[in-house]
Amino acid sequence: MNIAVSACLLGENCKYNGGNNLSEKVAEFVKGHKVFPLCPEVMGGLPTPREPAEIVAGIVRHKDGSSVDEEFRKGAELALKTVEDNDVELVILQSRSPSCGVGSVYDGSFSGKLIPGQGIFARMLAERNIRMIDVSELK
Ligand code: SF4
Repeated sequence: MNIAVSACLLGENCKYNGGNNLSEKVAEFVKGHKVFPLCPEVMGGLPTPREPAEIVAGIVRHKDGSSVDEEFRKGAELALKTVEDNDVELVILQSRSPSCGVGSVYDGSFSGKLIPGQGIFARMLAERNIRMIDVSELK
């Protein structure tokens, strides 16, 4: 099976703070499958490390109010194209991210509060009925 994965879960240092979210569970789960590591934020041209961003009333912004919505959407579209062009059947995504969050995201107040919702990339996948799971769903 072709599986796309948030690149930070595979140990790529593409998180906003320059780190990663390496997951042993993901590494085990994808063994024997064709894997496509994707980081929509890097694909959108954003640097690493970068300022944290949250979705504020539908627009992705930094804490100072500046918009990075264009970069987030461009990166999500490029990541989606990779998924579609390679017949990816499952996408495993990192929790809470404004790009990759599946079931919840930060509320836009930069206070660490979560609300139900999806990141920009996850929403695009959902709109196309592409199967996706949050990494926490892997047993
Ligand atoms: S955009 Fe997705 S892949 Fe990139 S660092 Fe954030 S959660 Fe990980």
